[in-house]
Amino acid sequence: MLLAVTDVETVALVNRYVTRLRLPTERLLVTTDRSTFARWLGRRVDASIGGAYAFSAAGNHLVLIHLARIDRTQLRAVEVVVAEELLHMRDRLDGDLRRHAKHGHDRIATRVAALTGASLEEIRGCLLPRERRPLRYIYGCPACGRRVARRLRGTWSCGRCARGYDPRFRLVLIGEAVAADQDDRNAVEAREMVET
Ligand SMILES: [Zn+2]
Repeated sequence: MLLAVTDVETVALVNRYVTRLRLPTERLLVTTDRSTFARWLGRRVDASIGGAYAFSAAGNHLVLIHLARIDRTQLRAVEVVVAEELLHMRDRLDGDLRRHAKHGHDRIATRVAALTGASLEEIRGCLLPRERRPLRYIYGCPACGRRVARRLRGTWSCGRCARGYDPRFRLVLIGEAVAADQDDRNAVEAREMVET
């Protein structure tokens, strides 16, 4: 097992659940760092996730326990994430690839509860709330005049004037707002340009 982990609680929990789930450790790699996990995996990893399990093309079991996203004021938060990711590994070894597909998160949460003794409430509350950037940039459509607020600068066309990205209706930056966060309704009206 490669434990690219310095956090004492995480190390102890990984060892505990590896034993309880009878997992082989020769090809198990565990990290608490998202960029390390992304490097192992060979692609980007969503910053909002609390943990991840992947079986790599090289045949390794890759586990991310994303401490930066885990609410450690909750007593069993790290334990819940460790147990869940190692359950995914158990399922992979058992050939049960479909187990989470149909019943999704409720099914795995129930199994994590049974395995750890944590309540479903503790399981649902183990991550920190997502921080969202404010809708700071105000764009306008040169054709219909519609205004759209975005969290980041970028290139979009008007969602009302064109179904896909269309440079004829490219939104123009018309200002920056200092306003408090609002919901994303306006933002989804814009069509993002796919960069290739
Ligand atoms: Zn428009």
